[in-house]
Amino acid sequence: MTGLSVRYDVVIVGGGPAGMSAAIGALEAGADRLLIVDREIEVGGILNQCIHNGFGLHHFGEELTGPEYASRLLEELVGHEIDIATDSYVLDVDALRTVTIASPSTGITRVQAGAVVLAMGARERTRGAIRIPGTRPAGVMTAGLAQKFVNQLGYLPGRRAVILGSGDIGLIMARRLALEDIEVPGVFELMPHANGLTRNIVQCLHDFDIPLHLSTTVVGIEGRDRVEAVTVAPVDDQLQPDLSRTERIECDTLLVSIGLIPENELSAKLGLRLDPTTGGPIVSSTMETSRDGVFAAGNVVHIHDLVDFVSEEALLAGRCAGEFATGSARPADNIHLVPGANVASIVPHTISSDREHTVYLRVRRSMERSWLRLGDVYEKRLRYVVPAEMVSLKVRPRFLEHFHGDSLRIDIEPRDEQGDE
Ligand SMILES: Cc1cc2nc3c(=O)[nH]c(=O)nc-3n(C[C@H](O)[C@H](O)[C@H](O)COP(=O)(O)OP(=O)(O)OC[C@H]3O[C@@H](n4cnc5c(N)ncnc54)[C@H](O)[C@@H]3O)c2cc1C
Repeated sequence: MTGLSVRYDVVIVGGGPAGMSAAIGALEAGADRLLIVDREIEVGGILNQCIHNGFGLHHFGEELTGPEYASRLLEELVGHEIDIATDSYVLDVDALRTVTIASPSTGITRVQAGAVVLAMGARERTRGAIRIPGTRPAGVMTAGLAQKFVNQLGYLPGRRAVILGSGDIGLIMARRLALEDIEVPGVFELMPHANGLTRNIVQCLHDFDIPLHLSTTVVGIEGRDRVEAVTVAPVDDQLQPDLSRTERIECDTLLVSIGLIPENELSAKLGLRLDPTTGGPIVSSTMETSRDGVFAAGNVVHIHDLVDFVSEEALLAGRCAGEFATGSARPADNIHLVPGANVASIVPHTISSDREHTVYLRVRRSMERSWLRLGDVYEKRLRYVVPAEMVSLKVRPRFLEHFHGDSLRIDIEPRDEQGDE
């Protein structure tokens, strides 16, 4: 990293799809002095290790691999005068939007930002987060780390791998290992439902004859230097394992795919208000956090299942950050969105009645045929909702023409009658 300016219109922390899309948005808004900072040696974020296809159907209208998606975004930035500082770590963002960056080549640098976009993504939960009993041998790792080994570094993690957790990363790695001739005796899931996208269950497990065991977890790990076996057990409705019905499975690898944690250490240090359900900052309809001029987008705000929605959200955050930095008037929100029946989380947390918004929800439990109700101003039929798939809702100004309150509840409730969706 050389030659950073002292002042930028917008500084973007993280150069994954959210960071790059935010930069595109900021350019659209007329901000032209931009800096993207990423701790890796190249931008692209998690997409660089996702060599499977399935990215971009909504945003680019075609099916791309992760690296292809990332390079499409990068191409949109080429030709603009943007500074990209890779191998550079943002240590701190303060309330005056001074950003402190550490890099092996230049040491510590401080830059002043007109607006900041936080786009730090998420990290994986590890074995320690769920305290699996047993020894601590080599061969226990997160599914994302195994993906990096196989796809980027050219190492196989083992020869026979059990996967704990049916989130998308676990499912994708089950198929990836099978393609490398690594045996996958099963994917084990604590919950009574799978946690990944339906398309990944079909394409990664069913198509490769890999069994999925629901309501089952790993209760022990054996092995001194290297994993030799794991013990699995079914769980009851309270998610407590039944240790009288265990099964021992020989393997040399255990991949854990048990969820992602939004990477919000910088946000917490900055004193941003965080949503305990999403783990990310509370944001307005412009993706602005509780600090003026600090915006956020992507997995750092809430875990997305599709990168296309990350891009949409980050384009908005970038545009609004660009407008903030160049002095445009900021639209104000007047309605709080409140999670109601079967709604775990809602992003953004507030909206305004005079503009159209895309609102993203997560449900608590699966439901076939339901009503999505926005207070008593709007309702729509949903065919099928599952916790693993985000629900999106377009809130249009006409829904709110006759609404005069300051908060609206969103409920997802069972629908009895049959009928067209
Ligand atoms: C294994 C896997 C498979 C997936 N498969 C699909 C799929 O098939 N289809 C699909 O649409 N989506 C898929 N996704 C989801 C998609 O990749 C994510 O939604 C998307 O990458 C999130 O983008 P992001 O920019 O928010 O975060 P990230 O991609 O994680 O980028 C965050 C960036 O911030 C940087 N950073 C963090 N902290 C700092 C700091 N302090 N200083 C500097 N830099 C920092 C990181 O280095 C990283 O580059 C998959 C994800 C994974 C993990």
